[in-house]
Amino acid sequence: MSIPERYKKICKCIASACERAGRDPDSVTLLAVSKTWPAETILELYHCGHLIYGENKVQEVEQKRPVLPSDMEWHFIGHLQKNKVRKVLAHCDVIQSVDSLELAQRIDRIAGELETRPKIQLQVNIGDETSKHGFSPDDLSASLPGIRELENVELSGLMAIPPAVDDPEKARAYFRSMEELRRNLEDREGIPLPELSIGMSHDFEVAIEEGSTIVRVGSALFGERIYPAVN
Ligand SMILES: *Cc1c(COP(=O)(O)O)cnc(C)c1O
Repeated sequence: MSIPERYKKICKCIASACERAGRDPDSVTLLAVSKTWPAETILELYHCGHLIYGENKVQEVEQKRPVLPSDMEWHFIGHLQKNKVRKVLAHCDVIQSVDSLELAQRIDRIAGELETRPKIQLQVNIGDETSKHGFSPDDLSASLPGIRELENVELSGLMAIPPAVDDPEKARAYFRSMEELRRNLEDREGIPLPELSIGMSHDFEVAIEEGSTIVRVGSALFGERIYPAVN
């Protein structure tokens, strides 16, 4: 299947999942995860009219963004080392993978220097996996007041990468916990957290049924990645 064909198919699946869940199709954003793919491949999707892309490596964003059209929106979705914050802020509009208060504070400080105000999302380690980055749900409540004070970032919501499962139905409970966490924090702390970034190629439909507002889809759009991304 070509990229335009895959794109059409995924847009249809998103629309059907929204219909099943009684949701407005405009309430779900497709983030095209273009990691490992060269600019030429990404342009094939851009020419279908798609503008929102995600990358997980600073070096890849640095290489690709300058050679691609400037009306694309870029989300950073990988583990961000503190010494690379400035580079990511130079190229990305949203950082979805903020996994500590210290990182949020550094982003805020450098965004202030650069006079930008990026959106950030807080990554939650919902499966409590030692191999994954992110706040534990408890740490999140403790860190939120500090993050809320930051003036040069716009806290827009939560993000999670649940444990890998073979059957998408097995991811449902994690997605549901994320939506509950999001809603509880909004109610308890009074902080708006409109975005919930959950769901990837194999389980985005289940994620939409459980409240996802951003699905991060890579291989189902571009094909199987040729070399595996290391997270
Ligand atoms: C690679 C990646 C994705 C996309 O994965 P696919 O299974 O190819 O859709 C989504 N989110 C993150 C954080 C990733 O690193």
